[in-house]
Amino acid sequence: MNIAPKHSGQNHFSVLVVGGGQAGLSLSYHLKQEGIDHLILEKNRIGHSWRSERWDTFCLVTPNWQCTLPGSPYSGDDPYGFMKKDQIVEYIEQYVASFNPPTLEGVAVTRLYRDTDDTFIINTTKEVYTADQVVVAVGGYHIPVVPRVAERLSSDIVQIHSCEYLNSDSLPVGEVLVVGTGQSGCQIAEDLHLAGRRVHLCVGDAPRVARTYRGKDVVEWLDKMKYYDLPVDRHPLGTGVREKTNHYVTGRDGGRDIDLRKFALEGMQLYGRFENITDGIANFGPGLAKYLDDADAVSESIKDSIDKFIATNQIDAPEEERYVPVWQPPTDIPDSIDLKQNNIVAVIWCVGFRTDFSWIEEPIFDGRGYPGHDRGITRSPGLYFLGLPWQYTWGSGRFSGIARDAAYVAEHIVSLREHNQPATILISRRR
Ligand SMILES: Cc1cc2nc3c(=O)[nH]c(=O)nc-3n(C[C@H](O)[C@H](O)[C@H](O)COP(=O)(O)OP(=O)(O)OC[C@H]3O[C@@H](n4cnc5c(N)ncnc54)[C@H](O)[C@@H]3O)c2cc1C
Repeated sequence: MNIAPKHSGQNHFSVLVVGGGQAGLSLSYHLKQEGIDHLILEKNRIGHSWRSERWDTFCLVTPNWQCTLPGSPYSGDDPYGFMKKDQIVEYIEQYVASFNPPTLEGVAVTRLYRDTDDTFIINTTKEVYTADQVVVAVGGYHIPVVPRVAERLSSDIVQIHSCEYLNSDSLPVGEVLVVGTGQSGCQIAEDLHLAGRRVHLCVGDAPRVARTYRGKDVVEWLDKMKYYDLPVDRHPLGTGVREKTNHYVTGRDGGRDIDLRKFALEGMQLYGRFENITDGIANFGPGLAKYLDDADAVSESIKDSIDKFIATNQIDAPEEERYVPVWQPPTDIPDSIDLKQNNIVAVIWCVGFRTDFSWIEEPIFDGRGYPGHDRGITRSPGLYFLGLPWQYTWGSGRFSGIARDAAYVAEHIVSLREHNQPATILISRRR
């Protein structure tokens, strides 16, 4: 494969970066350092997902010190705190101002393929571009998942996806059904609950993690334990970890646990998984008690690992009592509710996203549409991914790991450009 430039002109770049979130920007930072001409094409605005796909009271779940964008690690006065939405956007904007990445906003890439001479052709909603190399940095959350059963909801019930939720006041007056207990579902349920709404919450099998343990944020312990350096291929679940729901916890008000049992004590109505809607009746599966127990068990097992680490390394850390469940679901927990009779005026689907790489015409995808790659390097020379959840480590799709991944991809871009050779990776290792 010859990667030598064959096109020139104002619409040709050595590297085109698709997506202007933290991943695309981080890559641009390295390309600028290397003096490589490039352009970021961003469908919306830089930092769009933080600006427009998070609710008003959103704040990071990960501590500020983990925000380590290349060349611009967090330097505020609250490293152990959790930036709120506006502060995150400001952090991104300051990052942009710090090195002025070449960017075109409001331009969506609609098709990516190779010309007969192997140059990449990038069709967009505006012009056509060509590039020697392309980095796909469009995150991992493309299409909000809403189960088709949603079509059975009465039209007078407002229904939105978690990425559309703003605040309690933006919903009609009444009770709200939140479906899903990943990070978003739990935090949105809490937001509504704190705003005085009666919330009905369908609980699933998401794990949870304590905010603090034995004198430190659990994230800080896990960092010391090198969990965030664990590559995906050495994780006990292997690449299967990419499918796992994130542990729920919050950074709100300085950070705390999310304990659904406590919410239940305070009046939130918990159910098992959402299953169906028939004639205005929502049906729920069994298993609430098990889901709560399992979530607590995960949290306690993380504490076990921390205890072991403290003991092994003879660290002086205060002892802490373990969690004791504050509520148990009664045996007669409802398995259905009449939505209208319960004055449920809104349903918020917090069941995640799916990816959509259908605009990329290169034979690199597996049977489920996931791009085969090794740390973002695909088997198609010159085509890379950046910012995928667990692309390389836990932090790959987050602020904490993007610097390492961006440096790695940039190194390959430079190598391919200079030597016409991929840097170190053997094609046979690529999945
Ligand atoms: C609810 C939620 C909470 C999170 N909380 C945290 C947290 O506490 N800490 C943390 O570190 N991480 C968190 N994350 C994960 C992660 O940090 C964010 O998802 C982050 O936005 C990922 O950055 P990115 O640049 O990879 O992708 P994105 O921010 O999604 O950026 C991708 C960009 O690509 C653009 N784009 C998409 N398709 C195209 C196209 N075809 N053409 C051109 N442009 C395109 C989009 O408009 C977008 O701006 C959270 C994620 C979610 C969903």
